[in-house]
Amino acid sequence: MAHGVHMFTQTLTPRLRDRVLRSSLVDLLTGPHGVDRYTELVAPTWTTGDARAKIVAVRRQTPRSVTLTLEPNRACPGLLAGFRAGQHINLTVEIDGRRRTRPYSPASAEGAPYIELTVGRHDGGLVSTYLYEHARPGMIVGLDSVGGEFVLPTQRPRRVLFVSGGSGITPVLSMLRTMRAEGSDRQIAFIHYARSAEEACYRAELEAMPGVKVLHGYTRATAGTDLDGRFGPEHLAAAMPNPDAVFVCGPPALVDAVREHCTNVSSESFVPPVFDVAAEASGGSVTFADSGVEVTDNGRPLLEQAEAAGLTPESGCRMGICHSCTRRKTSGVVKNLITGAVSSAEQEDVQICVSVPVGDVDIAL
Ligand SMILES: Cc1cc2nc3c(=O)[nH]c(=O)nc-3n(C[C@H](O)[C@H](O)[C@H](O)COP(=O)(O)OP(=O)(O)OC[C@H]3O[C@@H](n4cnc5c(N)ncnc54)[C@H](O)[C@@H]3O)c2cc1C
Repeated sequence: MAHGVHMFTQTLTPRLRDRVLRSSLVDLLTGPHGVDRYTELVAPTWTTGDARAKIVAVRRQTPRSVTLTLEPNRACPGLLAGFRAGQHINLTVEIDGRRRTRPYSPASAEGAPYIELTVGRHDGGLVSTYLYEHARPGMIVGLDSVGGEFVLPTQRPRRVLFVSGGSGITPVLSMLRTMRAEGSDRQIAFIHYARSAEEACYRAELEAMPGVKVLHGYTRATAGTDLDGRFGPEHLAAAMPNPDAVFVCGPPALVDAVREHCTNVSSESFVPPVFDVAAEASGGSVTFADSGVEVTDNGRPLLEQAEAAGLTPESGCRMGICHSCTRRKTSGVVKNLITGAVSSAEQEDVQICVSVPVGDVDIAL
């Protein structure tokens, strides 16, 4: 029967095939055999050995987010074994025939059998809008590259303050859920900022957590808010004065405010940094060899220079994390804006979202 599905889908246009593959009929036909076997048959490019997951539940907790429960396939345990609360994982979906990769931070605890992702919908955002509109049980997604330094220390701090804004709740919730699953006796406070009560993800779960002081700050509504305005000394005093450690994830302004008023802060932001580098333009020539395009270096990252020239290379996080923009540099010197490393090796792979030319550069793009 599944072979029949394969033969059938091969005769369809990519868009129609995608619709059929996402249909309940295909779920039913492929049901008892697990994810791996049939994704090999119906989507041969998702080769055996790749870590993949099946979406088994879709929840819309708020009007602008979608929460996905993922069941990992048999290639995932290796990938997930090292997952630590707060880290991120690359998720790949195929949209109109192109694979698109973005990093997402699981909200699930370390060691949980399922992965939970909450994706906030971005206006004009490709993958978040796609998942928000199309994610459904049975859909297969790709997973790879667990990583990140935003993690709890092995020796859990005695008094912990978690702070999050919007979809930045995911890694700190993972930390909180992990500590609770451990039966932690630590003192924990949690401040979450959202536009309004209805936009606050996980509100009911947080408010029902015994032993955790939870405060919500609504930035565009007064109803139900525990905190007025933006993070500052008053919010800190209300939640937990002088915490031993603070973990914050949210927009850069929230991270900056927490850093200003607290010590021992670990932070993450999902927003790419603004690189102020135009003044360092080398004026060299940048050749995107595969496309036959040559431009004069304007000091911006190679990804931006390619896009400004009308090219559409694959990209993801735009901050050197997900590696989906990696391209081969065939000659020349580049500087990595995150690490400051300057590399001149010929034939090396570079992340074009965070690499700027230092003189003439040839990129296979
Ligand atoms: C470590 C990490 C963890 C993350 N975890 C989560 C999470 O748990 N939940 C979550 O919701 N998100 C998370 N993100 C963000 C996520 O990876 C995506 O960035 C987000 O979902 C938007 O992706 P998108 O494809 O919808 O938007 P994209 O299409 O990538 O666009 C993103 C934004 O950039 C703009 N943009 C697009 N192309 C360009 C361009 N050429 N030039 C300038 N601007 C452009 C768009 O208008 C949009 O506002 C995380 C990010 C990182 C780095």
